Amino acid sequence: MTTFRSRILESINDANLQTALDNNTERRLKGRAAAFESIPDWRDRRLRANKIRADVIDNLDAYLEKFIAKNEANGVIVHRAKDAAEAIQIVLGIARSITNHHLPTTKTLIAKSKSMVSEEIALNHALEKENMQVIETDLGEYIVQLRHERPSHIITPAAHLKKEQVAELFHEKLGIPYTIDIPTLTATARKVLREVFLTADIGLSGVNFGVAETGGVCVITNEGNGRMVATLPPVHIALMGMERIVPNLDDLALMLSLLPRSATGQKLTVYTQLLHKPLENQTRHLVILDNGRTRLRNSPLKESLYCIRCGACLNACPVFRELGGHAYIGSDLSIAPYPGPIGSVISPGLLGENYVQLAQASSLCGACKDACPVNIDLPKLLTRVRAGAVNSKQSSVISGGAGLTRSTRFGLQMYTRIATHPRLFAASQKLAALTSSLFAPFSQWIHLPAFTGWGYSKDFPKFAGKTFRERYVKRAESRESEIDNAYSSNPQSPVTNHQLPIGRHQFTEELTALGGHVYNVENATQEIIKFLKSRNINKIHLEPNLLDEGLLRESNIEFTHEPDPQIIVGVTNAICGLADTGSVLIVDGDGSPLKGSLLPEIHVAILKTSNILPSLPDAMHLVKDTRAAVFITGPSRTADIEMTLTIGVHGPKEIHVFLT
Ligand code: SF4
Repeated sequence: MTTFRSRILESINDANLQTALDNNTERRLKGRAAAFESIPDWRDRRLRANKIRADVIDNLDAYLEKFIAKNEANGVIVHRAKDAAEAIQIVLGIARSITNHHLPTTKTLIAKSKSMVSEEIALNHALEKENMQVIETDLGEYIVQLRHERPSHIITPAAHLKKEQVAELFHEKLGIPYTIDIPTLTATARKVLREVFLTADIGLSGVNFGVAETGGVCVITNEGNGRMVATLPPVHIALMGMERIVPNLDDLALMLSLLPRSATGQKLTVYTQLLHKPLENQTRHLVILDNGRTRLRNSPLKESLYCIRCGACLNACPVFRELGGHAYIGSDLSIAPYPGPIGSVISPGLLGENYVQLAQASSLCGACKDACPVNIDLPKLLTRVRAGAVNSKQSSVISGGAGLTRSTRFGLQMYTRIATHPRLFAASQKLAALTSSLFAPFSQWIHLPAFTGWGYSKDFPKFAGKTFRERYVKRAESRESEIDNAYSSNPQSPVTNHQLPIGRHQFTEELTALGGHVYNVENATQEIIKFLKSRNINKIHLEPNLLDEGLLRESNIEFTHEPDPQIIVGVTNAICGLADTGSVLIVDGDGSPLKGSLLPEIHVAILKTSNILPSLPDAMHLVKDTRAAVFITGPSRTADIEMTLTIGVHGPKEIHVFLT
């Protein structure tokens, strides 16, 4: 019979899984360390982020009220769902209103970008039961959907798979010849999913942050699918956990300096979009979900609501790194929607006693807390879950520790008291080590069957000279000093935002490092014509009033101000550039620059050198009054198959910035 324990053993003995997990976590950890080098004040940012999240959760009702009022004023239809069933009914209601306009034989098509909340409420399953077609468009999510699986990681859903397994899957389900060439596999998904974006009735996305001050909804993706689903279909539904609020745009900028670095080791995600009002001919619904968050907010696990879902604690956790996400199962054997250290707190916190056992899958080493960009004390929360401080669906507080004997539960409660006081914990470990050395000569006679089963088949392990905690703290300090040293040996790195060198050199360096191209030009029209001729391209999607249209005509370059999926070059204005990330800001306006920078294979942006700003916080005021805006940082990309970077998933494969 499958149990939590047997699932753990299965995972440990699965050679494919172990290879895939090793690839994923090692690269994630290295990427994260490198990305943090460019913000030497990261410790301070982390503390500020923690304070902001604490303030939001303490004053959530007031922030939500403001956020909702702004959204309604912006023309967004806001719904509040107290639980999963209500959220599903809201989405179904929206979808049915569209179905009614369809021929009875046609299914409503929903193109979905990544949303952990939709996993939490099992939305796909509910929609499919009502005869709707839901297609996941994030490459990793698409892969797991084709395999009828749950994501195994909150950032990289297919982290448990090797490329051979994806190759087999695409061969079988999409009918392509078997290949392990990752760019070919990615290009196949691009082709299939492009059709989905263009024909979907509804686009459904998650929400990374909601900005109370402006009502803005921030959705970030690397592949561009989050932009596609929010931009192309006539209806966009944004599904959001009620805790995902930040007070204002400055706070958002701070969070965005931490989230991508922690999640994927990037300074900024490729597409950071801010949606305020629905686009032309579009309806936007915002569904704000409670589903246990209010209870959690009033429980000892409140701090778990600070989470910004970066996944760093999963990558850092020595247990998750061995098991992967599919080993985190409830007592009913269902896979938890949220795995890893944070999942072991919020899965039981939101979904009840079924997932209490997950908190046993932790060594409490503290690696998760160290990795967390908002400084959540995960070991403390895990010990609280173990000791029973978790809300059930039925009652406000349950006894917790499901399936444990009374003596074990008592032991865990004592343990919680000790483990939540670092000095006491360290002292207790030392005492244990001393006791162990005193009794070492008698160890073969000491059995602990009542507690663990140790001693029946194995010798009781010797205590190490130094506690794990001492060794871990030493390692953590040396990791932190590695980051500090790397920074001080690189004098080009910024000291603070205000001291960043403003200008094109840094912008050029950053964008080039990401695979973008930057040109300094006198006359943008002439240079762009040369560029187009060199590629044999004679038709473009052009934002109005940007280039000399007479000169384009004379040069036999056709242009249109209407989006056209057949056109392979889109030329748009960039409102500003960001020196420290190599990003450009595109805002909605005449000629659909948002689509012009998304649908074509090649995006050409025209940027005034004088509009290059130091970093994201300096540009936030420029997005405040827009209908929608996006910061673009390099070409579309993914690393969803074996963490192999592949360029051009759903958005443009190339970005060229002409600096004037
Ligand atoms: S708990 Fe912290 S590290 Fe883990 S996903 Fe949330 S924000 Fe990231």
